[in-house]
Amino acid sequence: AKRAGRNTSQCYGPELVQRLNERIDMRQRLQEAIRGAEFELHYQPQIDLTSGRVRAIEALVRWQHPRLGQIGPMRFVRVAEETGQIDAIGAWVLARACAQHQQWLSQGLVDAVVAVNVSALQFQRPDFVALVEGVLAASGLPAHRLELELTESVLMDTVGRGTEVLAQLRQRGVRIAIDDFGTGFSSLGYLKRFPVDKVKIDRSFVADLGQEGEGAAIARSVIAIARHLDVRVVAEGVETEAQLDWLRRHGCDEAQGYLLAKPMSAAELTEHLRDTLAR
Ligand code: C2E
Ligand code: CA
Ligand code: CA
Ligand code: CA
Repeated sequence: AKRAGRNTSQCYGPELVQRLNERIDMRQRLQEAIRGAEFELHYQPQIDLTSGRVRAIEALVRWQHPRLGQIGPMRFVRVAEETGQIDAIGAWVLARACAQHQQWLSQGLVDAVVAVNVSALQFQRPDFVALVEGVLAASGLPAHRLELELTESVLMDTVGRGTEVLAQLRQRGVRIAIDDFGTGFSSLGYLKRFPVDKVKIDRSFVADLGQEGEGAAIARSVIAIARHLDVRVVAEGVETEAQLDWLRRHGCDEAQGYLLAKPMSAAELTEHLRDTLAR
């Protein structure tokens, strides 16, 4: 009976106030995290299904809170976008990922690109291209070794200028991947308008590949569209042999997921790459 009346205006107030307080709290904590350098990157490989080689390494941000422990991006990226703090976090992520990847390349541990997630707010900044150029120059990473993962909504939000920014980045050799493909307004026409190098089939479709359900139908058409436009296709969230087998049979280029490799710390991935090379 305690839950009764939850939706009445009487109870709406305190709940809203509590949520606002949580948000303010989060903003302050994020500010401390930015100042105290509490962020860390984990890295997850994308594997070529023909050669078995690592083709890309995706950087995924984690927040190592001194008291609360590790906090995943699903719990703070949205707030950081709302407060604008994603600018500082995103710039750090880009710089760290490029520096780390340049180290792996110079050690001869990989022949791959580093994939970095970019949020809408970051991409819309007028100085985004300059930021990328600055990071590449500082890290020494060649532009063609950097791949930016953008969601469809990022591009849809910025029609016009977005196309221009994409063109500028690609002109410099930076690669573009469309993340979570199939969840937005994707279409053939859309992909023709935005020149990209790679599409990533969203995890939600990969999850029901075995059952030959709706996910399989979408995956099939994404692969066909990508083939047609000469764009590489990666399936994300691959967890079972059945899914991997389906993807191989249907001509998917690369796969990423717990079955192949989980996201790892830089030290763990260094070990993993050494082991793979030694084999
Ligand atoms: P995403 O870009 O779609 O990243 C894939 C997510 O799926 C990651 O979660 C990854 O750990 C998880 N994953 C990988 N393989 C599997 C699998 O086989 N099964 C399942 N169930 N999950 C798998 P994570 O690291 O929690 O990141 C969540 C989201 O947060 C990302 O989704 C991305 O949208 C965002 N994100 C992560 N890092 C950054 C960043 O540096 N900047 C921005 N703007 N967003 C980020
Ligand atoms: Ca991603
Ligand atoms: Ca994704
Ligand atoms: Ca996703």
